[in-house]
Amino acid sequence: MSAKKTIYLDHAAATPLSEDALIAMKPYFAQQFYNPSALYLRAQDVRAAVETARHSVAQIIGARSGEVIFTAGATEANNIAVQGVMAQYPDANCLVSSIEHESVLKPASRYRCKEIPCDESGIIQPSAVVTMIDDDTVLVSVMQVNNEVGTIQPISEIARHIKTVREERSKAGNALPLYLHTDAAQSANYFDIHVQRLGIDLLSLNGGKIYGPKQSGLLYVKRGVIIKPLVVGGGQEFGLRSGTENVAGIVGLAAAFAQAQEIKDSEVKRLVELRDTFIKELLSIFGSAINGSLRHRTANNIHITFDGIDNEWLVMSLDEAGIMAGVGSACSASSDKPSHVLLAMGRTDQQAQNSIRLTLGRSTTNGQLRYTAETIKRLISSKR
Ligand code: PLP
Repeated sequence: MSAKKTIYLDHAAATPLSEDALIAMKPYFAQQFYNPSALYLRAQDVRAAVETARHSVAQIIGARSGEVIFTAGATEANNIAVQGVMAQYPDANCLVSSIEHESVLKPASRYRCKEIPCDESGIIQPSAVVTMIDDDTVLVSVMQVNNEVGTIQPISEIARHIKTVREERSKAGNALPLYLHTDAAQSANYFDIHVQRLGIDLLSLNGGKIYGPKQSGLLYVKRGVIIKPLVVGGGQEFGLRSGTENVAGIVGLAAAFAQAQEIKDSEVKRLVELRDTFIKELLSIFGSAINGSLRHRTANNIHITFDGIDNEWLVMSLDEAGIMAGVGSACSASSDKPSHVLLAMGRTDQQAQNSIRLTLGRSTTNGQLRYTAETIKRLISSKR
């Protein structure tokens, strides 16, 4: 394979727009540009496109249309979920997992908030959640799949425990709500995102990770959950996210999500095979170790430490060889702090700085991964 070829292994950071999503979006950039809130017929057609998209995603996630709020990505959805709940209860507290994305951790840090520790394999144990809930806890936020190490969290089990706490609370006469939020930004390509089967109250999703447009996303808000908007104005999106709708983004998100869910089983099967062969190859390198559970791991994630190898050097050298990889979370790429996720898992600063993330996607082939493994071996042996 020529080194001029490009191999993209950073699908957890961004995915290309799918053909389906692009085709669905095209009419809404120019021909059907009308404001969906206007009264004339052409605008009503645009409104219908927004509502069809809402109905489509609601059906997939097992929600009612009125429970889906379109947002500009998962950061915004997470902020609305956390701040929208917490702003109403200044004396209450929230629990967030220590491995959450910054778009959950930062808004939560504005309130009384405790971090739920993970175990060394990067999993939040339901028992750890339950022991931390007190009479003043109103929100628990645990992501479905971690964006760095790809670990799958036991959301429905956590939800069952929370339901029991809720019932006990209600018997004791405590009227405070207790909500469960999950950030599904990294899971919609490979998992069932059904809010009832998961047992959650709030869920965030992102178009830019599922072959849809960037700055598109949604927040599911279960009927009865009271949320305070962060942005007020024209009252769009049931008053929870004012501003003229990003119609092309909404339509593109719905098309991308439908396609991702349709092909998820075959993609999981294909990627797990590719991933496991690739992991075996990489583990044959001296001083290598996989981070995060191998068993409870999303189909496309490889997060690996190479002792003594600086991750920035390795990522830059791979780039020169035509391979795009990540040093950790794309969204914290501006930060030079070691990954909070690896530290929460008990890894040292040094181990965090010796780790890279390779995330597979629709375009990934066995040949690409063989070439990548060979290149990593060559680069590392040139350094040692
Ligand atoms: N949550 C998780 C788990 C993510 O991986 C990301 C982005 O990497 C986000 C939230 C933020 O998403 P967005 O960039 O759409 O705001």
